[in-house]
This record gives sequence, structure tokens and C-alpha cells, in this order.
Amino acid sequence: MHLPPSITDNYRHKGLRKKLVSLLKLNGIDNTLVLDAIGTLPRHLFLDSAFEELAYEDKALPIGDGQTISQPFTVAYQTDLLKLKPGMKVLEIGTGSGYQACILSLMGVDVYSIERQENLYHKTRKLLEKLGFSDIRTYFRDGFLGIPEEMPFDAILVTAGAREIPQALLNQLKIGGRMVIPVGEMSTQKMLRLTRTSSNSFDKETFEDFKFVPLLKGVVKK
Ligand code: SAH
Repeated sequence: MHLPPSITDNYRHKGLRKKLVSLLKLNGIDNTLVLDAIGTLPRHLFLDSAFEELAYEDKALPIGDGQTISQPFTVAYQTDLLKLKPGMKVLEIGTGSGYQACILSLMGVDVYSIERQENLYHKTRKLLEKLGFSDIRTYFRDGFLGIPEEMPFDAILVTAGAREIPQALLNQLKIGGRMVIPVGEMSTQKMLRLTRTSSNSFDKETFEDFKFVPLLKGVVKK
């Protein structure tokens, strides 16, 4: 990854990333494509400088507008479940800081990402340009509806907690495509993976519990 010269990523940051990757391995993540991307991408650049010291701890952190950047373990876990191959077309719901979108992009997939908060959408769009990730396509709209004009997708990754599975997103999956989505009625969600086995059938697998900020309908204008 070639960062523009104006960006600071020093040996200390690199060392902290190595430690984070070792921790993720200890916690059961063995997907080398995912681990390499996390080891490469400077997470501190997606956070306010006040959080620089915490950027490489395995924690979710605030990114403004009441939202959070997901915990690195959660990013690794969800990304691994998608079983991605370079060249796939991937839709992310909840751009947030842009960190997850950049991890996907470093893995060689084509990324389409939707954010419902206009402030965050603009802030993150600027950051993606600055970091050289201009080819990630970002959209300011309601993720419940997906991107009908770009369907079908090989994979869909929802990075906010849903009360139910959005039907429009299921419709936008290729046959054989996978959607990973945390679903729950309360403050914790079960990670689900839905695999489209034919035009009208899906396989559903249930994984561990996680805590996400809620997936909300509609958009918030600034
Ligand atoms: N993937 C992000 C995680 C951000 S937290 C990252 O790497 O930083 C979840 C994000 O989902 C928040 O920014 C929130 O505003 C957004 N979100 C919630 N409901 C949404 C919806 N219906 N459509 C699009 N984005 C949504």
C-alpha cells in the first residue's frame, strides 16, 4: 500500500499493528488475506488524533455523530465470514469511518459502501480521497434499500445491528453470494450468514454474539 507522503505512519504504528495482528490470530482469526489487510492499513488515520494511542487496541472507538469504528476483531470476523476473492463486487452497509471499506479494498474486491448520515458521508469521502482510496464507491442513502442499479453483489456486509433482515438486500445478492449481518431485537445481535442458493432460497448460519450501533431507516441530513 502506498500512502501519500503527507500521511504519518511511523515504525511505532507499524509495530502496534503487528501486535494487533498477533492478538487477532490468538483469538482465532486465520484468514491471511484479512490479517494482511489489517496489518497494512493504519487504523489511527480513521480516528480523531485524541484516540491515536488507542487505535491499535482491539476496541470499538467513537468516530463522531454518535457512531463507532468497529472493533478490529469484529472487522476480521465479519470479513472472514464473507470468504472473499479478489475481483468480487461487495456492498457494505454503514461506511462510518471508512476503515472496513478500505480493508475490503486492500483485499482486492470492488467496494460499494452506503452511509445514512450526511456529515459522516462527506467526512469519510474526503478521507478516502486523501488516503488514495478514490476507487471505493460511496453513497449517501438508506442502506436498507441497497443499490438496485448496481446489483447483483457477490457479497453484502452489514456493519450495524439490524432488528430484521432487509429483504431488498437479499434480493441484491448473486446466486451463491453471501450476506453477513448482525441481527437482534435487543442490545446484542447474533452474527448471521445468509447464502443465496437459488433465486428464492437462502441458507442461514448463526454465529457468535456481537454489539453494534443500530441499523436505522432513512437518512440524516446535516
Ligand atoms: N463500517 C464502519 C462501522 C461504522 S458503525 C467502519 O468501519 O467505521 C455503523 C455505521 O452504519 C454508522 O456510521 C451508521 O450511521 C451507519 N448506518 C446505520 N444505519 C444505516 C443505514 N440504514 N444505511 C446506511 N448506513 C447506516
